[in-house]
Amino acid sequence: MSAGRHERWHEIVRRLREHLEGSHEPSVSTVAADSQDPFRTLISTVISLRTKDEVTTEASARLFSRAATPRDLAAVSAEEIARLIYPAGFYNTKARSIREIAHTISHQFGGSVPNTREALLALPGVGRKTANLVLGLGFGIPAICVDTHVHRIPNRLGLVETNTPEQTEQALEESLPHEYWIEINGLLVRFGQQVCTPVSPWCGRCPVSHLCSRVGVERSR
Ligand code: SF4
Repeated sequence: MSAGRHERWHEIVRRLREHLEGSHEPSVSTVAADSQDPFRTLISTVISLRTKDEVTTEASARLFSRAATPRDLAAVSAEEIARLIYPAGFYNTKARSIREIAHTISHQFGGSVPNTREALLALPGVGRKTANLVLGLGFGIPAICVDTHVHRIPNRLGLVETNTPEQTEQALEESLPHEYWIEINGLLVRFGQQVCTPVSPWCGRCPVSHLCSRVGVERSR
């Protein structure tokens, strides 16, 4: 890994923290911080996929006020879970996954969310993105959650050169200082929603424009 890239990351994270100070954390980060409960973090992450933050926050609150432990949630029907998390995207599919996750954790893991990537990935509806977010936010175990923003922005910055989120995760593991592995998702999600947007990013008001190669950016504001 190059010292130059490390230095750029230190500067980028410092500037993003400053720029985003006071802006709302993603809903899953808030659930994780408020509850300090890996199970709620996991279930909220499942709800959050392809779903707006406000919807995730409200759906999670409705669901957890009905049942907040694996054992209690496993006893709720998938139909009722779907009603509680509606209008989250794919609410029927997610409801079935949530019930199965609760059942598996309750019966195979003694009621505690497993804290290894391998075991998390074996749960229904849990992919690499969810597993890494739960490791980081739920257990404080450094893991880089690469969603669409974490894939797009480092490529634009010229800090990685990758085609898939899996490749980005691997490239970031080599270049991103370890101390930012958990935090980077929350920073880049907010930055990607507010400034480095998918189409026509706001480069004119970007706090890291002097550090950015703007790879693949054809139109900006
Ligand atoms: S300069 Fe533009 S492309 Fe680069 S990080 Fe900032 S907003 Fe994104």
